[in-house]
Amino acid sequence: MKDSEPTDVTILWGPQLYGNPCRECDFNWELSAADAVSLVQQLPKLYAARLDGATGKETCSDLAWSVSAYVSHVADNLRIWSERLAGARLSGERRVAGYDQDLLGLARRYDAINLHAAQWSLDWAVREWSDSIRLALAAGTELHHSDRGRQSAEDVARNNAHDASHHLWDIGRIISANE
Ligand SMILES: [Zn+2]
Repeated sequence: MKDSEPTDVTILWGPQLYGNPCRECDFNWELSAADAVSLVQQLPKLYAARLDGATGKETCSDLAWSVSAYVSHVADNLRIWSERLAGARLSGERRVAGYDQDLLGLARRYDAINLHAAQWSLDWAVREWSDSIRLALAAGTELHHSDRGRQSAEDVARNNAHDASHHLWDIGRIISANE
């Protein structure tokens, strides 16, 4: 295979992995890209409502991360996808590599990030993402992810909306387990 040729998808992703709707968080993968964007834009308010009264340090036995760590992950994930879309749009190079969310969490010390700081980052990440996804959708930007294969800007909008919604559901489980 030539170096410039996209490689085959090596892992299942999206509705093939999670089910449609998602077996856990009930996310509907058939929502439009515009609805996915609007869902992401509501995240800071949705998270703030769910996090009211939480310290961020809450954990539960079947999830690896604390409440605050999940918020940091969602913010970092949105920033990373914003950057990927911008890179493809600005350079024409659509190949992007995956990242290791657990290593990033270790390097960033998610466990030590204050919940208010994580929410501040989420708010800014959503603003940056909104700008990047709007331009990517208008330009028809497409990525070729090393693990997930071809990803249109619409796919990215839905995947990112699912990640954030799924982790809001995770946070809800952690908070409920600590009540
Ligand atoms: Zn889900």
